Amino acid sequence: MIIPKEAKNVLIINFDMVRYVPAQKSANVGTPAKEKVVNMSKKCEICGKAPVAGRSVSHSHKVSNRMFAPNIQRVNIVENGKRRKANVCTSCLKAGKVTRG
Ligand SMILES: [Zn+2]
Repeated sequence: MIIPKEAKNVLIINFDMVRYVPAQKSANVGTPAKEKVVNMSKKCEICGKAPVAGRSVSHSHKVSNRMFAPNIQRVNIVENGKRRKANVCTSCLKAGKVTRG
């Protein structure tokens, strides 16, 4: 693809950009993603569970990086007598760590 030099702020969308690409290749695979990288909607406000990077291995043993995201639900909770919305993982909901309200 030929892009003219004066076109600096042109957004080129092709099919490769649709595919999810993990933020890093190998630096912290298996450890929780860094705070600034984590999308807050993918982090539990109770236990702090956040996406972790891993690898998917196909039947032909083609290995590619992927992310494992916790099951986060946006629910109404009661905290200090006040009602607010929070992003809570389903593990915390099932364990009764929050009061639904
Ligand atoms: Zn949680």
